[in-house]
Amino acid sequence: MKLSHKTISLPSEGFFYDNELSCGKIQIYPFTAHEEDILSENSSNDYELIDQILKSMIVNDVNIDDLLAVDVDAILLAQRIISYGTSYDVKITCPHCSDENDYSLDLKKITSVDKIYNFSNIIQFENYSIEVVPETWEMRKKCKSKSDTLKNIIKSVTKHNSIDDFVDNRFLSRDAREFRKKYKSIMPELNFSLFTCSCKACDKPMPINLKINRSFFGLTPNYKITLHKEIFNLAYFSEGAFNQDIVYRLPVYLRRFYLNELRTTKEKEKEQSQEGFSPNEKSEGVPRGPFGKK
Ligand SMILES: [Zn+2]
Repeated sequence: MKLSHKTISLPSEGFFYDNELSCGKIQIYPFTAHEEDILSENSSNDYELIDQILKSMIVNDVNIDDLLAVDVDAILLAQRIISYGTSYDVKITCPHCSDENDYSLDLKKITSVDKIYNFSNIIQFENYSIEVVPETWEMRKKCKSKSDTLKNIIKSVTKHNSIDDFVDNRFLSRDAREFRKKYKSIMPELNFSLFTCSCKACDKPMPINLKINRSFFGLTPNYKITLHKEIFNLAYFSEGAFNQDIVYRLPVYLRRFYLNELRTTKEKEKEQSQEGFSPNEKSEGVPRGPFGKK
């Protein structure tokens, strides 16, 4: 079975690439059990797992490390929507009264911010200027602190030879704040600011900090058991219509669709046989549990 791919618009609009991504689009395959298997690994190296799924789902022949970090966010966000839908449930503890709030966010609301980009990006200060570059996926993976990030995205500083020394010892915190604001305004960005909400108990505004990382997909090591039960059930109860290999390579949304169809059909068959219709041997062993009773 050949998977059909989906085309995703990149927040960078392709501006910072000199390869096929300069058109501002990238093609991705939908998640299958293979990517779910990777993300539900019992591993503490989240970036390594994300790298594996990016390599497996991106159709274009590009170096993952060269992708802009914001474009990777957009790719993962698009994948989450394609494979699991746009609604995203979060639990937020109110910082004012500690009440627990349940929210369902609509991921479609996260969009790219419209900007006009330049190849040369200079941030001007009173006595000096800083030349910057966008953060790539490789940079994000290596950064362990805010100063690491600064050292990566600063390409040059007038009158300073060492960027490390500038960031560590000479960059005034007032200028650094200003720098972050200006940098944000000239670089591609996803707009999360639409997610504002107020606490149901005290009515005060609460921030929603949505991070697009491994846990964004919610595929914990426990999920692995559910996943393989789903594969087993679809292969076993479809009585040969699907084999394990085919189910493993089905897009997640199709696997779930077929599972639901199979469950509905089996339940109908069971009802009919109980109502006195001709007994149907196939109605035995109606699958339960992992068929996602919703
Ligand atoms: Zn509150």
